[in-house]
Amino acid sequence: MAGLDGKTAIVTGASSGIGAATARRLAEEGARVIGGARRLELVPAPVEAHELDVTDPESCERFVATAAAQGLDILVNGAGLALGRDPFDASTEADERTVLETNVNGLIRMTRLCLPHLRDGGYIVNIGSIAGRQAYPSGSLYVTSKFAVRGFTYALREDLLGRPIHVTTVDPGLVETNFSRIRFRGDEEEARKVYQGVEAMTPEDIAECVLFAVTRPPHVNVDELVVKALAQSSGARIIRH
Ligand code: NAP
Repeated sequence: MAGLDGKTAIVTGASSGIGAATARRLAEEGARVIGGARRLELVPAPVEAHELDVTDPESCERFVATAAAQGLDILVNGAGLALGRDPFDASTEADERTVLETNVNGLIRMTRLCLPHLRDGGYIVNIGSIAGRQAYPSGSLYVTSKFAVRGFTYALREDLLGRPIHVTTVDPGLVETNFSRIRFRGDEEEARKVYQGVEAMTPEDIAECVLFAVTRPPHVNVDELVVKALAQSSGARIIRH
């Protein structure tokens, strides 16, 4: 019997990178996994793909009404993005809204909507970032959003204390995904440089962390998992060859 047989999991951001790898990994362990994203066609089988835009309250409500109708055991909040790598002076209203709406409001909204469906023994896993633990230059909005994710995760843990619900933040460093392509608005050259000369982590490495958090004995809560590429000590300090 696989570790997650009979469990139902929702993974947001399941069309790419960490979310896609996590959704696949939980499914491999026997869970029924419903993956949410805007680009449905990219959600990997056998994950069930449902359309989801975390910035749109109605989309979130529709998604949760279908995906969690028969109860829920695991919510993984993976949807997220950064836009630009510039000093704060270059920030725009539109980018600020997109990053905060996606990474913060979207994650909080999905958690609020899923919570009533979560069965005893359930798990909420937020994908934070080392950017939410230590600021680095020219990433102000992303850093802000991930500090907020960590603050929300801690506050949620306080509010759920005494109830049989586990709450975890998984905070990765450098992971090679589509993230930098989105951050640099499709500039492949800039995106490539982020991973140049360093062995970044893979989305599968992070999926293993999520799996670890949701497969501990019921009395154990993994509060935080911080994982970095070996050649990295912070968002700003990476040894490249
Ligand atoms: P990615 O490959 O670009 O994947 C991002 C995912 O988020 C996609 O599935 C995307 O789906 C989804 N998403 C974005 N906006 C959305 C929206 N409005 N509604 C629903 N889904 C949305 O990047 P990734 O690296 O896997 O990032 C996943 C998470 O890990 C993010 O929270 C990111 O901040 C975090 N993280 C990444 C790294 C890294 O180095 N890569 C490090 C630390 C933390 P659609 O576009 O199809 O909607």
